[in-house]
Amino acid sequence: MAVPRFWREIPNRYNLIGTKCGNCNTVFFPPRSVCPKCRRMGKLEPYKLRGRGKIVSYCTVHVPADGFEDAVPYVLAIVELEEGPRITAQITDCNPDSVKIGDEVEVTFRQIREESQDGLIYYGYKFKPVSNPPSEG
Ligand SMILES: [Zn+2]
Repeated sequence: MAVPRFWREIPNRYNLIGTKCGNCNTVFFPPRSVCPKCRRMGKLEPYKLRGRGKIVSYCTVHVPADGFEDAVPYVLAIVELEEGPRITAQITDCNPDSVKIGDEVEVTFRQIREESQDGLIYYGYKFKPVSNPPSEG
């Protein structure tokens, strides 16, 4: 499937861009070119997600994946975004033991790895706990 033109034209990779169906207003992430509910084309437009959501499921990973050798154990969670889509992402800047379902998280963009041979740098999104200001002290 061809990459939608709008996807290539979005200059800022530090945005969480999904698509929104103009017919049923459902938001999708990752972006889709066809709404699975309406089964129509041409009604989906780029939609910038706010990047906030909460953890609906998670697991702690102790076996490193390629490129994550420094990062175990890490938390892999399913995050339900405010706009509705659920995405799987790593939870960073957290104590793996303190993560729990219902935690509010926000997106953060990190360089995942760099291919030194061709100079390609891969960026990806992760989520981190929303830092609540202390209520006292
Ligand atoms: Zn739709």
